[in-house]
Amino acid sequence: MKTDNKLLSYNLSDDIEKVLFSAEELDEIVGNVANQITERFADSVLVNNEKLVIVGVLNGSFQFVSDLVKKINLPLEIEFMFASSYGRNTTTSGEVNIKVGKNPDVLVDSNSNIVIVEDIVDSGRTLSKLLTTLRKKGNKSVSLCALFDKPERREVEVPVDFLGAKVPDEFIVGYGLDYAEKYRNMPFVGILKREIYEN
Ligand code: 5GP
Ligand code: MG
Repeated sequence: MKTDNKLLSYNLSDDIEKVLFSAEELDEIVGNVANQITERFADSVLVNNEKLVIVGVLNGSFQFVSDLVKKINLPLEIEFMFASSYGRNTTTSGEVNIKVGKNPDVLVDSNSNIVIVEDIVDSGRTLSKLLTTLRKKGNKSVSLCALFDKPERREVEVPVDFLGAKVPDEFIVGYGLDYAEKYRNMPFVGILKREIYEN
């Protein structure tokens, strides 16, 4: 059995400079976002029989989506997508290459209200392009939901309909957000220690 001291004392959070949101605080923030979405779409779904489709942008949104949908008190469908743009400086089409999971048809359904769920809005380029691309697909509506917003960094105006919290211009990790694909599994969000970047 591998139970040496190194393993027993290992703790991902040792790499964190400062905790910004504890698991309990995230729970409350996510609950607030879920309530906003529930209120916004209650009539559409329960009275007008429209669809509500929660579309998580992978990988960063996986924890957020998982907790969010548990708190939305409406029938809904869940889909995921990967988004890749054709380079940050390409302004030609303003579109983004989208790979959708199991059920891409839901995005073009005229009865679907799509809610795109992102981890964090930074420059705004990703969400802006996703919005442009998805709005052309003939669905009922497309709205944007982000757990975090870094308003100081915005380069492209993007209408975030459902927001968790604003964050300072620091590089944050945890609760889905990564640094070099690590830290996504932390249950809280914090600022990464500088020495981690510099190593
Ligand atoms: P945007 O197109 O808005 O510039 O890009 C947003 C994406 O940048 C997010 O989905 C996320 O992947 C990444 N990002 C922006 N700020 C942070 C941050 O503070 N921490 C982490 N881990 N990712 C970030
Ligand atoms: Mg992302």
